[in-house]
This record gives sequence, structure tokens and C-alpha cells, in this order.
Amino acid sequence: MIYLDYCATTPIDKDVLDTYVRISTDFFANTSSLHKLGQEANYMYELAIKEIKQLLGLKNHNLVFTANATEANNLAIFGIADKYKSGKIITTKMEHPSVYNVMKHLEGSFEVVYLDVLENGLIDLEALAREMTKDTILVSLMWVNNILGTVQNVKDAIKIVKKYPKAKLHVDAVQGLCKVTPDFDFNDIDLFTFSSHKFYGPKGIGGLFYRSNIDLDKRLFGSGAQFGIKPGTFDLALVCATAKAMKKYYPLTSVNQAYVKKIFMHLYNNIKDLDKIIINTPLENISYYALNLSVPSVTGETLVHHLEAHNICVSTGSACSSKLKKPEKTILAMTNDEIRASSSIRLSFSHLTTVAEIDQVIETLRKL
Ligand code: PLP
Repeated sequence: MIYLDYCATTPIDKDVLDTYVRISTDFFANTSSLHKLGQEANYMYELAIKEIKQLLGLKNHNLVFTANATEANNLAIFGIADKYKSGKIITTKMEHPSVYNVMKHLEGSFEVVYLDVLENGLIDLEALAREMTKDTILVSLMWVNNILGTVQNVKDAIKIVKKYPKAKLHVDAVQGLCKVTPDFDFNDIDLFTFSSHKFYGPKGIGGLFYRSNIDLDKRLFGSGAQFGIKPGTFDLALVCATAKAMKKYYPLTSVNQAYVKKIFMHLYNNIKDLDKIIINTPLENISYYALNLSVPSVTGETLVHHLEAHNICVSTGSACSSKLKKPEKTILAMTNDEIRASSSIRLSFSHLTTVAEIDQVIETLRKL
């Protein structure tokens, strides 16, 4: 099978799995227990957090581990919204469902504004500047779009939001971390989220970083573990495996991206002139980890199954909504074209992807 669905999830790295197994066996005690074994486990937890923060250069952020990025995005957005109870929230038309559907839920109590997606797959930041008011409590946008792979201008968004002291900036960094070198300082973002399984870490763990001076409202009630934001016993092995994955892959970000860019361009150059295909991913401001295309004569789902019959695994969109037969939201927002949005698929890459695999994909797409 040729796996080209790395934006949905990545296989766990062997070293990361080894860490998981070792910590599960050697440090099984509850990190909250006062005895020696508990304290040893707690030391490993604090060490993992310290290492992760050091990697990202974070000075004043708390890190809370969650079950995945969906949970982290929910806790971040509700954590701010529940504090204020009313006000203005600005987000975008291209957010992952774990942000977008929270916003839909909040529409009853808040003024929620969804920024447009421009033709180049980027958010209209001029509109963000126009929409900001003294009542804005939260701006939530993604760093790298999961459907197109476009890299949003977080640096400028930070500058815009900073002018409004009440407003907090939440960034969904899931498709950016370990894939794109940030041109901004993570310290300048109030809250941001990640998911370990997107960078060869284990499934079942994500994280929320938030500035330690933010009094995040709680959604869950229990012990005081993890600042009370995500109370309860957590799996230390997942935490240490996440730290291992970050320590291994964060420093490889630019090397791996340079390789993936070659893979992307090889595919792009060989399919761009094919009559049946429209490539939706632009060539600028992208991560190169995803290439989105439409074959307007068939639905995305049909195309996914056609490729599957040729041993190629791709997605119609974000894994969470790929079973829904709706036009893909980001492509629709960018193109205003329902047919293009309903017939789109996403091929996503890794440093593990080979040129031979891409050649086979090109061959299959040529014969469509
Ligand atoms: N945000 C983005 C941009 C994503 O691509 C995804 C998953 O595809 C998520 C959030 C949700 O991540 P998780 O599967 O860890 O809940």
C-alpha cells in the first residue's frame, strides 16, 4: 500500500514506541502519589514538560496534555469563552471541525465572525484587522491548513491581535509543528494546540499550551492535576513518548520539509497539465506536506476508492469529516465552487514517502 494520508495520522516512530514501552514498564506509578515511585514518575513528567518547552523556547506557558488536539482546541476556546460569557470571537472559514464546530456552538452567546479564505488559500488578515474591536475576546486561527497545506501568516496575526489587550490569540498548530519552521515566536501566542500522532508520536495524546497568566475557565472538574484544566490520571508513557517524538522531529523540521518539497514538486509538475485534474493547493505559502486536487467529473469519495483499488491511500479532507458527503469547507470557501469542493482529495506526504511511490501515483492519475 502507498500511504499518502500523513496529515490524517503518521505511524508511530520506533524510538518513540520504545520510550512508550520503557516508561509504561519502569514508571507505572501515579504521578500524584507521594511515595518514592510516584515521585519518580512525577520527575519524568516534569522533565518531559521542561524538554518540550525548551525545544519551543517557551518561557511563560503552561502545558496541559489532553487526549488529542480536538480536546485541546475545545478546552482552549471554552476556557476563554466561558470566562467572558459574551463578546466577539473571530475565527475563519477554514478551521478544523474541532474549532469550527465549537464556534458554531458558541454562536448563541457570542458574536462569532468567520473570516474569508482568499483565492491563494490564505486568511484575509485585512479583514481581521477591520473586525477587531475592544469587545473581541478571542481570535482563533490555524497555523497550517489541514486541507490545502497553506501556511497562514501567524506573525502578522499576532501583531494585529496584540493591539487589543483583552483579545487572546489561539492558534491550532497541529499541522505546523515539526513540519514548518515558525517565523514567529511561540511566546507571542496566548494559547496553542498540537497532536502527537501528527509527528510520529503516539495516538491518544495532544496538548494545549497557554500563557500561565491566563485564568482559563475549567470545563472538567476533578483533582488539581494539570492545573485543574484536564484533571485525572494521565498516561506518563504517552507524555514521555510525545517529548521523545518532539525531540527527534522538531530539530528535523527544515531537513524533512526540504525533502517533502521535492516530493510535492515532483508530483505537482507531473500532474499539473492533466486535463481532468484541477490542483487546489497553491504554490506559495504552503507547507508542501499536502497537495489537494479535484477531479470535477467524480466525487472525492469515488476518487479515494479508485486510488485505493490501485493501493494508494488518500483522504477527501480532514479525517474527522471525510465520511460526511458534504463539499469540503475550506475548498468551498476558497473557490466558491461546490463541484470542485465535492470532488477534492488530499494527498499528504512525509519524509518516509519515496519518489517511486509518487511515480506510481502519477501513473494512476494519468490513466484516470
Ligand atoms: N486541527 C487540525 C488542523 C487537524 O488537522 C486535526 C486533525 O486532523 C485536528 C485539529 C484534530 O486533531 P486530533 O485528531 O488529535 O483530535
